[in-house]
Amino acid sequence: MRKINFSAGPSTLPLEILEHARNELCDYQGKGYSIMEISHRSKVFEEIHFGAMKRAKEIYGLDDDYEVLFLHGGASLQFAMIPMNLSLGGICEYANTGVWTSKAIKEAQILGVDVKVVASSEDDKFNHIPNIDFSDHADYAYICSNNTIYGTQFKDYPKTKSPLIVDASSDFFSKKVDFSNIALFYGGIQKNAGISGLSCVFIRKDMIERSRQKKLTSMLKYAIHVENQSLYNTPPTFAIYIFDLETKWILKQGGLDQIYDRNLKKAIMLYDCIDSSEGFYQGHAYKKDRSLMNVSFSINKDLDPIFVQEAEKEGLIGLKGHRILGGIRASIYNAITLEQVQILCEFMKEFRRKYQ
Ligand SMILES: *Cc1c(COP(=O)(O)O)cnc(C)c1O
Repeated sequence: MRKINFSAGPSTLPLEILEHARNELCDYQGKGYSIMEISHRSKVFEEIHFGAMKRAKEIYGLDDDYEVLFLHGGASLQFAMIPMNLSLGGICEYANTGVWTSKAIKEAQILGVDVKVVASSEDDKFNHIPNIDFSDHADYAYICSNNTIYGTQFKDYPKTKSPLIVDASSDFFSKKVDFSNIALFYGGIQKNAGISGLSCVFIRKDMIERSRQKKLTSMLKYAIHVENQSLYNTPPTFAIYIFDLETKWILKQGGLDQIYDRNLKKAIMLYDCIDSSEGFYQGHAYKKDRSLMNVSFSINKDLDPIFVQEAEKEGLIGLKGHRILGGIRASIYNAITLEQVQILCEFMKEFRRKYQ
């Protein structure tokens, strides 16, 4: 029996996708070989590769102003590639809203770019999205749209005049995005859109130009990957194959409006369960900044681990909070259904009845 898996990443996939992949794992569409066993330069793989790129853009409604890149190295490599490729010797501005932005800031500093942290909620354990004052003339302005560990999320992105960079690793394909000021948008896709090994990057044309001007080794240069349509070297072919299935799945659900509707309903249900517990469960994030993807909460030091243990016995896994924050975290990405959130809520009510 499959468990209900609230893991933050890698995380649960739609069963349909797993079954589809299983059914053609050894024999891809009757061809007599696995998709894992063929050249990334073959027609058969190219169809998947370019199909996934096309659909990824279609899902976000993007036109030719943007290129899609499939890169290795996880989201974390982007922390370095962004300053390497896009800094122009001016100031690079960052909003520090959690561990992942702290790491991005650190990488930029190592590279010696002029980093300015324009806002931070670190002193409050990153429990909210701070007011952010980006200037109008930075090389770029950097945010993380959803803070996976602390469970905060930008409802709207800052309307910056500087090119906006967004790390959307944990809310990729979860809602519509206004790209009007976005210069680069990326995510490691193992949280909400596939499996590990692949990062999907949308890069605007003027940023490719910046990259082209830079003296960088090939694998670290966006322009090289653009010129080679993300086939400069062997890409993570199986991860791209799964991502392709994800893009088809999203479109089949009716696109991001439908996906968002469902995500909203799930989150409302779970936060209601927390808020109606008379203080037994406490949410970590300010209400206004609550994430629809990662719900971080706690009871107390003694009961948190018991909660996680007992949940596991009921087939609810992946609920242990991140080691940095502790407590409990339920990640309710696209592949988690409303019914599964309902089962979690019922467990929470029962647990409270037993221990309060
Ligand atoms: C998980 C995560 C990362 C790091 O992803 P890797 O692919 O492991 O490098 C970066 N940013 C955010 C927002 C994340 O949730």
